[in-house]
Amino acid sequence: MVTRYVGRFAPSPTGPLHAGSLVAALASWLDARAHAGQWLVRIEDADTSRCVADMDRVILQQLAACGLHPDEPPVLQSQRTGLYQQALDQLAAHGLAYPCGCSRKDIDAALSHMGQQRARHSELVYPGTCRTGLHGCNRQAWRLRTDKLISNGSLAQVEYAHDATNLVTKNIIHWTDRRLGPQQQDVLTQVGDYVLKRFDGCFSYQLAVVVDDAAQGVTDVVRGEDLADNTPRQILLQRALGLPTPRYLHTPLVLGGDDEKLSKQNGAMALDTSDVLSALNAAAALLGLPAQSGTVAQALERWVLVWGALFARTAA
Ligand code: GLU
Repeated sequence: MVTRYVGRFAPSPTGPLHAGSLVAALASWLDARAHAGQWLVRIEDADTSRCVADMDRVILQQLAACGLHPDEPPVLQSQRTGLYQQALDQLAAHGLAYPCGCSRKDIDAALSHMGQQRARHSELVYPGTCRTGLHGCNRQAWRLRTDKLISNGSLAQVEYAHDATNLVTKNIIHWTDRRLGPQQQDVLTQVGDYVLKRFDGCFSYQLAVVVDDAAQGVTDVVRGEDLADNTPRQILLQRALGLPTPRYLHTPLVLGGDDEKLSKQNGAMALDTSDVLSALNAAAALLGLPAQSGTVAQALERWVLVWGALFARTAA
């Protein structure tokens, strides 16, 4: 059976592509080609404070140098804020999003009042203070009402569009990653009511990515494993907005010298476009693909065949 496939690569223009981001770019391209699908590029510049001017152009040039050409002109999140606002309005109209006036300090104080200590640098599980109103604070952010979504039973027994194993049972969101296998998360207690729109007016990554993946008809998300634990938050938002859930495949990470994910912060070097084949071979090796010589186009063609055998997705 031939099934529709739309994949995407969604870089944030915070720096040039490096060895780590190339793995996700190559994997998402190979998966799309192996399924005779479409491959889109979306520039994730919703968080304007982190973006570097002109970096979208640099990234697109780097992708082109690697032979990774999108099938449609790339879209920019900064031009799609109307869509994100519509989604937020929809959630708010159903009582599933609410304004929050709490600062970090307020959240810390509320948590310690509840006898909970936050580990340094760990994410805050919002205690739900503003679910019942702003308590006289100025509005700062918008949050998702996870308790209403998860606990009212309406999500239980729901089968997701492609995969009957994506279920919500006993408040836990279950999903199956094509590489990592069965995954689960209790969003209510491990994440809490997460932010949809920030105090500075920027829409959150979670909201923008869910709205965009659906609007672009993305059927398959292939991205780095560091984003895997965002998936349940995204599945929850898809349910809240009545949107389909794509399949997910999270790729291995390239680690820096400090054993952390390679990133600009720990000294990742920009991709060397004077020796693209070496860079692609390094990314391919991490994905379990054999080294290639010859031209970049030949290497990509051979990897598509191997990828098809390794990661053939089950028909929807
Ligand atoms: N923009 C994100 C990043 O560069 C990727 C988001 C995604 O693929 O869902 O890390």
